[in-house]
Amino acid sequence: MPKNLRRRLGAAVATALGAVLLASGCAVADVPAGGPGDGRPVVLTTFTVLADIARNVAGDHLDIRSITRAGAEIHGYEPSPRDVAAASDADLILDNGLGLEAWFAQFVASADAPHAVVSDGIDTIDITGDAYAGKPNPHAWMSPLNVQIYVANIVAAFSDLDPGNAADYAANGARYSAELQGIQDELVAALEAVPERQRALVTCEGAFSYLARDAGLTETYIWPVNAEQQATPQQIRDVIEFVEQNDVPAVFCESTVSDRPMQQVVEATGAAFGGTLYVDSLSEANGPVPTYLDLLRHDVDTIVGALTGSGR
Ligand SMILES: [Zn+2]
Repeated sequence: MPKNLRRRLGAAVATALGAVLLASGCAVADVPAGGPGDGRPVVLTTFTVLADIARNVAGDHLDIRSITRAGAEIHGYEPSPRDVAAASDADLILDNGLGLEAWFAQFVASADAPHAVVSDGIDTIDITGDAYAGKPNPHAWMSPLNVQIYVANIVAAFSDLDPGNAADYAANGARYSAELQGIQDELVAALEAVPERQRALVTCEGAFSYLARDAGLTETYIWPVNAEQQATPQQIRDVIEFVEQNDVPAVFCESTVSDRPMQQVVEATGAAFGGTLYVDSLSEANGPVPTYLDLLRHDVDTIVGALTGSGR
């Protein structure tokens, strides 16, 4: 289908969807993902973490965009008509998969552009407990080793889209993967200073299953997935019990949710509040984690500093 026809169809779909959303009273976010381009192929991603990883592989060759903005909660996002138009205008769509972007799946399926799921090939971990039990945990990007697989998938997708620059994509991907390995190695080495029983990562959302697995940490959390974040008294009691039994020195919460339930754990146990972790979104450019590597380093430093008491 010619691209201008795709664009017109996309606009028609967007108009129809806009009417439906307005009629149903859904909040419609205003996002820049569908803005005018500069002639480079447009790669549409679903959230800021993915966009940044893709940008590192793309260099200057591709125009990488994110549907959701910095700081957004991504699990319960509601796509706007502009998002739908952006999907029909894109030359390639990258999404995380593993059920993260259920809100986007129908538009990806109907878009004309090729589509790559960057988590393909990852050894997934199922969510336990709650309504999500048995579904794969979507937060695969929280392990640097998994993101090496993301990078390989992105290099392959970009090379199909733009074969003339395939050598650049491969070189950028290799350089980025080496940085990921460095952070992974640093985390594992630093945790050796923590007594084995205390090598625990206690967080609000169960977003750290992959990081915990790959770093040798035990993971405990208050709720499994942010989409239904409300801590029940039982969930809080369970976490308090775990912290007390294992003498866990510090607990954490994520940037996109309230840390109030975790403060209850702190009050009940005397564990330190170890700090805010970033998972589902980067910060704005002038914030603490404008890139994914910043996010990883921030989280590794926060976790290691609080668990070892070294205050990194
Ligand atoms: Zn999440």
